Amino acid sequence: MAMCEMCGSSTNLVTAEVEGSQMKVCQGCAKYGTVQKSVHRSTWKPRKSDQPEMRVVRNYAQLIRTARERKGMSQEDFAKSLQEKESVIQKWESGTMKPRLNIARQLGKLLNVRLLENDEKKAFVQEKKKVASELTLGDFIKVRKRK
Ligand SMILES: [Zn+2]
Repeated sequence: MAMCEMCGSSTNLVTAEVEGSQMKVCQGCAKYGTVQKSVHRSTWKPRKSDQPEMRVVRNYAQLIRTARERKGMSQEDFAKSLQEKESVIQKWESGTMKPRLNIARQLGKLLNVRLLENDEKKAFVQEKKKVASELTLGDFIKVRKRK
């Protein structure tokens, strides 16, 4: 049976930190220490991704085709080695369908070509937006000063 480590009472026990050590104490004695409200403190932290935004390069179709041909593979062989349908390869190589990011990464490794690039456009758009809002604020101040 748990008892208060300070007075021996067995009612309303809480865990409190008293002078640096954890003790089971009653509510009455808890005021001498720091009561720990959350015993199960979560150590999980949301992790911000530091991976830059990636996108498939614009000339992916040409890159895939030339790299495949350089390897001497037919579309059929290539499809088999990727466990994809031949029609999928045809779509990639004709530029009618972009491979998904994870597939493009896999393809790039396999063919020794770079099919992904940093999505600088996204970053650029964000930068432009920032500049635009600063300009607006600047103009606003100018207008007010003029009056
Ligand atoms: Zn007590």
